[in-house]
Amino acid sequence: MRAPIIQVRDLTRVYHTGSAEVRAVNGITLDIFSGAMTAIVGRSGSGKTTFLNLISGLDQPTSGEVLFDGEALHPMNEAQRLRLRQQKIGFVFQSFGLLPLLTAAENIGVPLRMRQMAAKERDGRVTEALSWVGLLDRAQHRPYELSGGEQQRVAIARALAVRPQVILADEPTGQLDSATGRRILDLLRRLVVEAEITVVVVTHDPQTMEEADVVHELHDGQLIATRHKASRFSTAALN
Ligand code: ADP
Ligand code: MG
Repeated sequence: MRAPIIQVRDLTRVYHTGSAEVRAVNGITLDIFSGAMTAIVGRSGSGKTTFLNLISGLDQPTSGEVLFDGEALHPMNEAQRLRLRQQKIGFVFQSFGLLPLLTAAENIGVPLRMRQMAAKERDGRVTEALSWVGLLDRAQHRPYELSGGEQQRVAIARALAVRPQVILADEPTGQLDSATGRRILDLLRRLVVEAEITVVVVTHDPQTMEEADVVHELHDGQLIATRHKASRFSTAALN
């Protein structure tokens, strides 16, 4: 069996607001394997976004630990965690997160600029990523000139262009109709199979749960069930 790319051990995040205490993530232990699409599901408020922020080192746990590719995240300083995110993780959001004044191509180039990539290599990566999501002809369009589905494809291209090990997606189909959502899921599947990127998707979309190889269900910050899609997971990740 492959080693897990993300190991989560007894992870807890408590928020204090006034006198109230919310255990947004409450003692979660699980492994996320490479070569698979993993879904984190649960009702609104069950702790999904908090969990995603913790496994990418954007947020600090109250207790417990996360190992990313064998490295413990939380002993790292902020600069080390930032570098890990820039090098190994791509993000996709429900609301796409594109900068409105930049073209599709410029948006895809933003994380590459942050990594100080030379212009020539950057342009190559941007073109490759646009082509991969089927939007070469939209390179010079700004977000408001694109449909929701196209904007999400640009966001996926932006995540892909970095060539991360893992893409984390928070409700990526949440603002899309089901046919457009299906197209986005097909792209996420291709990320796993063709680009060999591990995909973790937070969702309450039934279509996305159905597509995932592994589904972890949260309730009130706790992991209450894990389901494996036997056929796909065994061939994609366990061989
Ligand atoms: P989900 O993404 O599943 O909807 P969240 O992770 O956003 O859930 O939230 C889990 C719980 O933690 C909720 O009860 C929410 O109100 C609370 N919470 C989330 N972020 C904060 C915060 N920054 N401060 C206080 N409470 C928070
Ligand atoms: Mg959320």
